[in-house]
Amino acid sequence: MYQQIVILTGAGISAESGLRTFRDQDGLWEEHKIEEVATPEGYAKNPLLVEQFYNDRWQQFHQGDIQPNAGHLALAKLEQEFEGKLLVVTQNIDDLHERAGSKRLLHMHGQLSKGRCPRSRQTFLLKEPFGPNHTCTCCIPAQRLRPHVVWFGEMPIGLDIIQSALDTCDLFIAIGTSGTVYPAAGFVDTANHHGAKTVDVNLLPAERGSQFQYHYKGKASEVLPMLVEQILQGKMISGQVD
Ligand SMILES: [Zn+2]
Repeated sequence: MYQQIVILTGAGISAESGLRTFRDQDGLWEEHKIEEVATPEGYAKNPLLVEQFYNDRWQQFHQGDIQPNAGHLALAKLEQEFEGKLLVVTQNIDDLHERAGSKRLLHMHGQLSKGRCPRSRQTFLLKEPFGPNHTCTCCIPAQRLRPHVVWFGEMPIGLDIIQSALDTCDLFIAIGTSGTVYPAAGFVDTANHHGAKTVDVNLLPAERGSQFQYHYKGKASEVLPMLVEQILQGKMISGQVD
């Protein structure tokens, strides 16, 4: 039925695995100043503070029982069994999609598990939290790696790839995103413009004036296994689940 699918995932799907989000009530931005820990200027002023902030995220992520949930697993299954083209774009910096088995995946806001050379932009997988000896191997002298995370005021990663996928997709599904942060909030308009079916999966009820054609209100871990089965069976997606 569908030939090309683009999926956008946001904080909601990670929150269901027990990760703290940035924007929600009790989110990280209530305890930390964005301009200090998530801007290029904040990093230039106090790199240690910024590294500590991401190291705390790292620690939380590697503590015990944070695991991919049924939503992540359903998307990995879709990738394995769907015969058309598929791209998962995530706003999350954790690696729960990878751990669930997703490979056709784009981290538009970067990855907690990587550092980046500020000169060449080459990325390096980190096996431990940030420290003073994290340097690149691409430059002489070696450069101190910065977190491979897109900060406020910086361009998201892979926008050209996302744009061309949206231009040709026939199904766009957004999962657990607030729909308020651009450019991701505008993806639905692009997909609609090119005639795709657009579906929103969210814990919150559909917003008035929403650009999505269909809404599923519920947890990603509950809605996605059902939705993925429908897609794999070649059924049209048509419904609201309340
Ligand atoms: Zn370098």
